Amino acid sequence: MADGADGGPRAGAAGGWLPVQPQERAMWYDERFNFQATFLQCLAKHVPNIYSAEMDPLLEKQEEMVQAAILYPLECYLFGEDPDIFLEKLQQSGTSQLCGKVFKGGETTYSCRDCAVDPTCVLCMDCFQNSIHKNHRYKMHSSTGGGFCDCGDTEAWKAGPLCTKHEPGASGSPKENSECQLNEEIMEHSRRVFPSVIKYIVDMLIWEEEKELPPELTVREKVDSYYCVLFNDEHHSYDHVIYSLQRALGCELGEAQLHTTAIDKEGRRAVKAGHYASCQEAKEEIKRHSENVSQRPLHVEVLHADVMAHQKFALRLGSWLNKLMSYSSDFRQIFCQICLKEEAGSEKPCFISKLMLWDAKLHKGARKVLHELIFSSFFMEMEYKKHFAVEFVKYYKALQKEYISDDHDRVLSVTALSVQMFTVPTLARHLIEEQNVITTITETLLEVLPEYLDKNDKFNFQGYSQDKLNRVYAVIYDLRYVLVSKPTLWTDRLRERFLEGFISFLRILTCMQGMEEIKRQIGQHIEVDPDWEAAIAIQMQLKNILLMFQEWCACDEELLLKAYSECHKAVMRCSTNGRSREKTVFHLCGHTLESRPYRVSADPVSIHLPLSRTLAGLHVRLSKTGTISRLHEFVSPEEFQVELLVEYPLRCLVLVAQVSAEMWRRNGLSLISQVFYYQDVKCREEMYDKDIIMLQIGASLMDPNQFLLLILQRYELADAFKKIKPTKDQDLIKQCNVLIEEMLQILIYVVGERYVPGVSNVTKEDVIMREIIHLLCIEPMAHSAITKSLPENENNETGLEKVIDKVATFKKPGVSGHGVYELKDECLKEFNMFFYHYTKTQHSKAEHTQKKRRKQENRDEALPPPPPPDFCPAFSNVVRILNCDVMMHILRTVLQRAVELETHLWTEAMIQMVLHLLSLGLLEEKQQLQKSPEEEVTFDFYHKATRMGSSALNAVNVLMLLEKLKRVPQLEAQKDTVNWILQMFETVKRMREKSSVTTVVAATSGSEATKGDESTQDKEKAERKRKAEAARLHRQKIMAQMSALQRNFIETHKLLYENTLEAQGKEDAIMEEESMSSAIDYSRIALGPKRGPSVAEKEVLTCILCQEEQEVKLESAAMVLSACVQKSTALTQNRSRILELSGDTLDPLFMHPDLPCGTHTGSCGHVMHAACWQKYFEAMQLNFRQRLHVEQIFDLENGEYLCPLCKSLCNTVIPIVPLQAQKINSEDAEAVAQILSLARWMEIIIVRISGYSVKNAKGEKQNLPAFTSKGMGNSALEFHSILSFGVQSSVKYSSSIKEMLILFATTIYRVGLKVAPNEADYRIPMMTWSTCAFTIQCIENLLETEGKPLFGSLQNRQHSGLKALVQFAAAQRTTSPQVLIQKHLIRLLGVLLPNFKVEDTPSLLEVDMFHILVAVVLSFPSLYWEDAVDLQPSSISSAYNHLYLFHLTTLAHITQIVVSSATESPTAQSSDNSEEARSAQSFCREVCQYTSGCFSQDIPGWLVWDCVKKGIMPYLRCAALFFHYLLGVSPPEELLQVSEEGQFKALCSYLSLPTNLFLLFQEYWDTVNPLLQRWCADPLVLSCLKGKSIAVRYPRKRNSLIELPEDYSCLLNQASQFRCPRSSDDEQKHPVLCLFCGAMLCSQNTCCQELVNGEELGACTSHALQCGAGVCMFLKIRECKVVLIEGKTRGCLYPAPYLDEYGETDPGLKRGNPLHLCQERYRKLHLLWQQHCIIEEIARSQETNQIFFGFNWQLL
Ligand SMILES: [Zn+2]
Ligand SMILES: [Zn+2]
Ligand SMILES: [Zn+2]
Ligand SMILES: [Zn+2]
Ligand SMILES: [Zn+2]
Ligand SMILES: [Zn+2]
Ligand SMILES: [Zn+2]
Repeated sequence: MADGADGGPRAGAAGGWLPVQPQERAMWYDERFNFQATFLQCLAKHVPNIYSAEMDPLLEKQEEMVQAAILYPLECYLFGEDPDIFLEKLQQSGTSQLCGKVFKGGETTYSCRDCAVDPTCVLCMDCFQNSIHKNHRYKMHSSTGGGFCDCGDTEAWKAGPLCTKHEPGASGSPKENSECQLNEEIMEHSRRVFPSVIKYIVDMLIWEEEKELPPELTVREKVDSYYCVLFNDEHHSYDHVIYSLQRALGCELGEAQLHTTAIDKEGRRAVKAGHYASCQEAKEEIKRHSENVSQRPLHVEVLHADVMAHQKFALRLGSWLNKLMSYSSDFRQIFCQICLKEEAGSEKPCFISKLMLWDAKLHKGARKVLHELIFSSFFMEMEYKKHFAVEFVKYYKALQKEYISDDHDRVLSVTALSVQMFTVPTLARHLIEEQNVITTITETLLEVLPEYLDKNDKFNFQGYSQDKLNRVYAVIYDLRYVLVSKPTLWTDRLRERFLEGFISFLRILTCMQGMEEIKRQIGQHIEVDPDWEAAIAIQMQLKNILLMFQEWCACDEELLLKAYSECHKAVMRCSTNGRSREKTVFHLCGHTLESRPYRVSADPVSIHLPLSRTLAGLHVRLSKTGTISRLHEFVSPEEFQVELLVEYPLRCLVLVAQVSAEMWRRNGLSLISQVFYYQDVKCREEMYDKDIIMLQIGASLMDPNQFLLLILQRYELADAFKKIKPTKDQDLIKQCNVLIEEMLQILIYVVGERYVPGVSNVTKEDVIMREIIHLLCIEPMAHSAITKSLPENENNETGLEKVIDKVATFKKPGVSGHGVYELKDECLKEFNMFFYHYTKTQHSKAEHTQKKRRKQENRDEALPPPPPPDFCPAFSNVVRILNCDVMMHILRTVLQRAVELETHLWTEAMIQMVLHLLSLGLLEEKQQLQKSPEEEVTFDFYHKATRMGSSALNAVNVLMLLEKLKRVPQLEAQKDTVNWILQMFETVKRMREKSSVTTVVAATSGSEATKGDESTQDKEKAERKRKAEAARLHRQKIMAQMSALQRNFIETHKLLYENTLEAQGKEDAIMEEESMSSAIDYSRIALGPKRGPSVAEKEVLTCILCQEEQEVKLESAAMVLSACVQKSTALTQNRSRILELSGDTLDPLFMHPDLPCGTHTGSCGHVMHAACWQKYFEAMQLNFRQRLHVEQIFDLENGEYLCPLCKSLCNTVIPIVPLQAQKINSEDAEAVAQILSLARWMEIIIVRISGYSVKNAKGEKQNLPAFTSKGMGNSALEFHSILSFGVQSSVKYSSSIKEMLILFATTIYRVGLKVAPNEADYRIPMMTWSTCAFTIQCIENLLETEGKPLFGSLQNRQHSGLKALVQFAAAQRTTSPQVLIQKHLIRLLGVLLPNFKVEDTPSLLEVDMFHILVAVVLSFPSLYWEDAVDLQPSSISSAYNHLYLFHLTTLAHITQIVVSSATESPTAQSSDNSEEARSAQSFCREVCQYTSGCFSQDIPGWLVWDCVKKGIMPYLRCAALFFHYLLGVSPPEELLQVSEEGQFKALCSYLSLPTNLFLLFQEYWDTVNPLLQRWCADPLVLSCLKGKSIAVRYPRKRNSLIELPEDYSCLLNQASQFRCPRSSDDEQKHPVLCLFCGAMLCSQNTCCQELVNGEELGACTSHALQCGAGVCMFLKIRECKVVLIEGKTRGCLYPAPYLDEYGETDPGLKRGNPLHLCQERYRKLHLLWQQHCIIEEIARSQETNQIFFGFNWQLL
């Protein structure tokens, strides 16, 4: 017995309204116990108290009280034990097989194209990931909200209806029915409790009294306490509501916003509390302020506080029930039973219907609760879903009408539930049979549409409301849902009901047949374009419904015939137009046509003919099934009247022709648009295609001559084909020619277009294949482009995948672009130039492509039609129009005009069409002759075409005309086709002759050219083919040779180009060298006494602006390189470090080894004169000032501009400073080496510096370096000693170069520190060194990740940029005060020199050594500065300075590496006992000693050596780059290749290092010893060694973009779990992934905006400031787009690196195909980042793509 309740504290606190003590429980079973009364009593007592503070509720407290006072006792009573324990047990005992998860807006849903019954069947992410469909062809989509997961619904899936989670027995506990079923006691209680609860909910939700409650609930004294309640609507904007509230209530903006947000979310909210009168007043005020000319006032009500409280609680009870439903099927069933129970003998609807009917009146919050309740109860129980559906259909009409007049979104309406029921096949069938749902829906349509009817009872949508019509579409959708699955089994009742529905549907079509008639405008242009969108939109909506109706009809022979007859009747009823007119007679070629006069160009015409087209659709189905033989039983031949059936579609086609002929110019764009959609893929199946079929029906049933006469007459071409003197009016002649072309084209289609099942024996696959072939004949196409050009069926499928591989081969995309399909060669023969779905442009493109292809294959250019498939018997008569008299007349007339050179009366296109018709005729005859004996073939095209008539007109036959045609010069292009036809004539002639020797063909053909029998002809053919093949091969070979040559040329040329400058330099150097010493192999060492010569190059550059050449010289005017300086975090080792956004107080002299943020300088490598650039920049400034309205891509204020040549974004220029060639006399150098040891060199420097200090001490105060006397024995040294090792006079720069030096340095300072420009700031030199070092590090990093050699592989732009940057950095010193540089130098040396400590010298582990190296080398010459003369070190001095400075930093770096990276005990053993290992070992002993044992001595030497060798590599590589660009000494060959071991040796040799690096310590031991001691004693080093702090390990990690999952749905999965960190509501969010650090952000949402420097920034923008120093790269997960942003104002979209299997990206996930990561593209993004090209990419994209100007990047 679980009696948990008795002692529970909650039970005690409840102050229960029901006895929960065991002894009292007995009375529960007492039948007299009136639950309902007690329940209501309790509610009456508690509810008004609990919900008293409506304006400012304490939600948690409220909920606590509800639980304690009402729900807990209720549950105790219901379950008979502690609710928590009971529900826990129930939960364990089993779950439903249905998932039933209800989707929120924006959630990703999955559908399986292989297994889903229709596309509305979807799975939630969880179920999908656990289902078999994961490996099928699935689609991903973003839910609009309101649907639910179909997992477990066996009717929704052809296979795999259950995921592993919902599979019975798979979820852990085996499903044992006995346990999960509720016991009888609880069932009994439920039956007693639920009705009262449900009744209360229903009563309160539909309660309409504002002031009163039902008597049972009125207990206390009525108090004058009211609320003024505002309801939401979709008409008023957010801002308008806020404004109205502020004005009406006089409240603050914040409060008004709060109200408005709540109203939008919940649907209503009390905005004021008080007495009745004051609330009433507020109500009027709000109404008054929200009303204006165009808008209704807001919906406001005054409600009594108690009413409000009970309504609120009713919803709470609703969600309580909702929760309960998920626990047990029994609860659900009892609930549903009660909801469906009708009061006996009452007409009143049951509970659930009551609520449904009230739905449109409920506020948003209430609807949500109601719909969720329906989902969790009815929709989880198949049987009750059916009952619910029946109720739904019962009230369908009323519900839809309510919805249409309502203004809420469809997802919030109960009508949106229709899809959940109508798409279930068994349910749909049941509803048709029992509830006649098709008729119900069509009648609903017929009742809501009449407001659009005109006086003729046709629809007319002029001035319609888009919103309202969209609501009507919802009803049309329902029809589609009901029809989506065709029944396999027909009952009489089903047949009857369906037919009834079909007839009802025909009534809608009747209102559409001939709607929105138009009349040709003559003389004057129409004033306003009429609305056409609505009518076309309805056509689009109806397209698949029409097709489905036809398919359903075709399921059953009887049904098809009945439907046909009904449809025929309907068409006839509509074909009354013009019956009043007298018939007229038309004669031609001895044939006559009697018809009622009608002219498309003068009488009204309509493009909307759904009835005629449905009839055509049914007709081909009759033909296909063979049922057509019984047609006469249902439609008598007299009634049939084929001329009348053809009439309207024909008019429509003529209208299209006349529009082409520009006869309808004055009717404006609306007609053009209609004609476009008429033939567009979205509509054509049920418009254009069916009209062609109707003409084919006509041609098959009418006399061919009469049919053609009708066509001639309707095209208004009767006169044109009589020998009547035509007019001289050029426009009319042109018009007439176009009309003839259009008509000939239609004739081609009528005879030739047979790819429709039922017209000929083709399958649906054949049809799709033919469409695809013709699309690919135009050009290779992407999968999505083909899909878009194919019609979709009711399941949004085109059938493309099934056939594409038969006709095309897939070609993969490269790093950009997309994959395409190419047509297979064997399909080329299917090409039909006059394919009826080609537009005019497609037609000429395809013709051009195909002719070109044939030419390339060395074949003739004839493109005859492919032999068409045979007509079905019902259509076989169509071919008769080919050989009838009128056709012959038409053909002959056109040919004659061409031959007689009446140039204005014919066109080449016309001739092409005539030739096409001729070919069709000959093909037909040939095919017939091949199939049956000659005498049986009555089709005598050959005979007719070769017959000569007696009249003057007939004096020549077609064949003769063809011969003459060959000689018409304008028709040169058609010659091959003419020849082909002549051959066909011959072939047919011989077939006729062969089969019957007696037949003598009277006509003599003019063609004697082709003789001989077929075999010789074949031989000729074969020969021709062989020759063509040989020619092709030959050509191929030549092409291959050519391209090889070309490649070689480019390669040599490239080398030439790249080496020009260098080679020149080399030659110069070599020549000089030779003259001096004759040593050819000069040294490739950059530092020290053995330093090799600089390869000085004479640079002559061309200015891209003025195109003049100039040699770069110190003394001439400056030339500059366009450049872009930006802050960068590309190398950071620690993204969590907070970056300072403004550098006002920053001291950038030392770079932290984390490299958190550096300043990168890049260049596009384009050179200008400084003066030219300045002029260009000023002109641009002027230009932009004049056009203020133009939004700027770049920020001129901050010096931004686009490179004039390549349009990259730049913000400064680098002056090009020539390298100073230096050579060392090795003898001198050796001599110096004798005396200038490291120790000596250090002494000299210290003396020099202290000398300066003494000098300067008098003046300002500065950090005096502290000296110790130790090691400074040599008093012979004095202040000037440094000069004795060689000086030279300083380099003199031209003033123009100096100016540029200052300008560029200031930009680096300004951008790098984000401060205002200041030319005199003391940090300018520091920033110069810093950007130089950082840029080199970036380039080294890039070369390494790309696996390229250190030298020789840089892009040109990188090479020239780096060269200019390093030379600039060396020269910049001269523009700053030397005292300043010295100060900086002293601080830098503080890190490197013993006995010499400046106050703020950072710890060894807090500095990046390469930055120090660059800075000391560049600042060192300042020590040579003397007041009187400008001096700098001589070459030899420099060589030593560089060597020692480099050695010192290297020693420091080795120490860094050893203490930070070689601290882990080895995981592997090695017996390496090399010299290096031994040196390392002894070095470690020292370190161990100096760190008092903190450094473990146990680490083996080989491991330390290994760490050092690996760790030091990037530093050495950077140093080599730096010294190379500084000094111009050629690097060793090994550095031009990639090789691990060779590289290390070469670097050491280039940089004058022993390969055993520890030897450096040994060599300088006396000098270095104190230094090492000092470094090791550093507190940070010690704390690091003790493991108390963490230092960067070397080599540093190479940054890359975060790892992305291969399957995109994994990302969507992650995103679905994303919760905004700032708000708790379940609103739709836009999760965005930072590709630098992997952070997931909540973008474009106010909740995550951040206030930075007084500006509101979106989550992305503010994240970017930290993560990427303003530049960042994000992936918008729900949209599958990459976003690049820079700063606050710029950004662009970039395709995500995910591709579907067709090699296409899917921005916005519109197509929803499975997506997979493309590594190459992701790598491209990575390079974009590491090459610092993001800004450039943004600028480029903004320039080409102006759409995003309006976008507020700041709030991203
Ligand atoms: Zn699910
Ligand atoms: Zn599932
Ligand atoms: Zn599947
Ligand atoms: Zn120039
Ligand atoms: Zn450029
Ligand atoms: Zn980030
Ligand atoms: Zn947020």
